[in-house]
Amino acid sequence: MNKRFRYAVIGGIFGLLAIGLWLQASTSADKNISAARKKIALHKSVAGNKAAGQALPSLSGNEIEFETIDGIVYVYVNNRLSGPMQVQLSEGSSSRNTEAWPSLPVSYVLEPKQRKLLTRLQAIDQNAPMIRDLRSLGIPGDPHAIPEDVAYSLPIDENSHWELGQEFNGEYSHHDEQNRYAVDFIVPIGTPVLAARAGVVMETIANYGSGGQDAKIYASRANFIRILHDDGSMGLYAHLQENGILVKAGQRVGLGEMIGYSGNTGFSSGPHLHFALQINTGLRLVSIPFRMVGPEGNLPLSQ
Ligand SMILES: [Zn+2]
Repeated sequence: MNKRFRYAVIGGIFGLLAIGLWLQASTSADKNISAARKKIALHKSVAGNKAAGQALPSLSGNEIEFETIDGIVYVYVNNRLSGPMQVQLSEGSSSRNTEAWPSLPVSYVLEPKQRKLLTRLQAIDQNAPMIRDLRSLGIPGDPHAIPEDVAYSLPIDENSHWELGQEFNGEYSHHDEQNRYAVDFIVPIGTPVLAARAGVVMETIANYGSGGQDAKIYASRANFIRILHDDGSMGLYAHLQENGILVKAGQRVGLGEMIGYSGNTGFSSGPHLHFALQINTGLRLVSIPFRMVGPEGNLPLSQ
C-alpha cells in the first residue's frame, strides 16, 4: 500500500471560495448612471487545506454583479450551478462611508441557476466617495441535506486496470475537510469514469490540460464533475482528462452511466481518479465517509 503515498493526490478541490472585492463608487458619477450594470472582476483568494499546502480552486457557481440606480448599488449573486448553493456576503474592515440594507453579513441558500439580490449599498455622505470592502463565499449544496447510508458503486469498470491508491485519511492529501474521506483509484489516463450513484450533474470543469505536484500552480486546475444526489449529498470525480467529460450540467445521470474519462489534471502526482462524497454543513464543504462496493465486497477505505 505504499503506492497510495506516491499517487495520492488531490487537495482541496472546490467549494470554498473567498472573494475579496473592492467597490469604489463615486456618488456623483452614480447619479448619472441609470440602471448601469457592471460586472466586477472578482479577486479570488485561496483558503483552507493548509496541511497539504494546497489551494482551493475557485467555485464556478459564484458570481457577484452590481447594478447602480440613482446612487444605490444593488448587489446580486448568480448561482451558476445546476444545484443549490449557499452564499454569504460580508464586509471587511476597509469599508468607508457606506451602509447596507439589509445589513451584512447576509446568507442565503439559492436554487439552481437563481439570481438573487443580496443587499443594497448607499453612501452615508452623498458628497463623499463610497468605499465598500466586500467578501463573498459560495458553497455548493444545501446545508439542510441529510445524507442517506448508500452503498456506492465503483466509479470505474471493475475489469478495467485499477488499484486502490489513497484511502480515507490518506497521508499525502486526504486530510483536509473536503477530502479526508476520499478514495483514489490509480487508473491509466483515458479510463472510462462511471457514476457511482445516480444524480444530477451540478457542474463540470473540463478545460485544464495538465497536472503536477506544485500545489500553487495546479491546485485550482483539476477537471472535475460534481453530481448532486437525491439526498442532497454530492459526488466529486476529479482530475479528469482535458475535454474528457461526457455529461452537461443539469443532466440527470444513472448509476453506472459513463460520465467521462480519467486523467491527471490539477494537483496530482500521477494518473488517477479521485472520488469524494461531500455535503455542505453550513458554509462549509466537507467530505463524509461512505461505503463502496468492489468486486470483493466493500472496499477497505477506512484506516
Ligand atoms: Zn485523492
